[in-house]
Formats: sequence, C-alpha cells, structure tokens
Amino acid sequence: MSGADHPTVRGGLDPSAGLCATCTWVRRIVNDRGSVFLRCGFADRDPAFPRYPPLPVLACDAHRARPTGGDGEMCDRAP
Ligand code: SF4
Repeated sequence: MSGADHPTVRGGLDPSAGLCATCTWVRRIVNDRGSVFLRCGFADRDPAFPRYPPLPVLACDAHRARPTGGDGEMCDRAP
C-alpha cells in the first residue's frame, strides 16, 4: 500500500489503514476520479500531525476510537 489512497470496506475504512481506520479524526475524501483518501482531521488542530499520514498508522498519540455502529464524524466531500 502506498500513500493515503484506500478503498473502503462495506462503507467503513480498510483496516489496512491501521489506527486511522478506527479513529474519529479521520476524514474520508473522494476526489472527482473516485479515488479515496484518508485525511487526518486532527492536523487542523495540531500542525505537527500530517494531513495525509503515511499508512498504515501503527502508533498515534491523537488516536481516538470512533464509536461503533457508525462512521462517526467522517465525511465524503472533496476539499
Ligand atoms: S489522529 Fe492519528 S489515528 Fe487519527 S486520523 Fe489522525 S493520524 Fe490517523
């Protein structure tokens, strides 16, 4: 896997994204070509975090588990 381009799995995020797949801060971005990118919403609060972290993320101090049963705060809008 390279970069932050990932398919979704049954409407959720590919578990191969690592911690981002379960994080409430992650944003799922779909561009005009249908490519899916994972963007770190926490990077808007703390510029020390990359907006598009190299995946998989295996350790992250800002990870916050998304509530189960939904996609939490994720959105599908292109920037
Ligand atoms: S806070 Fe960490 S785990 Fe969560 S989306 Fe950002 S980089 Fe991924």
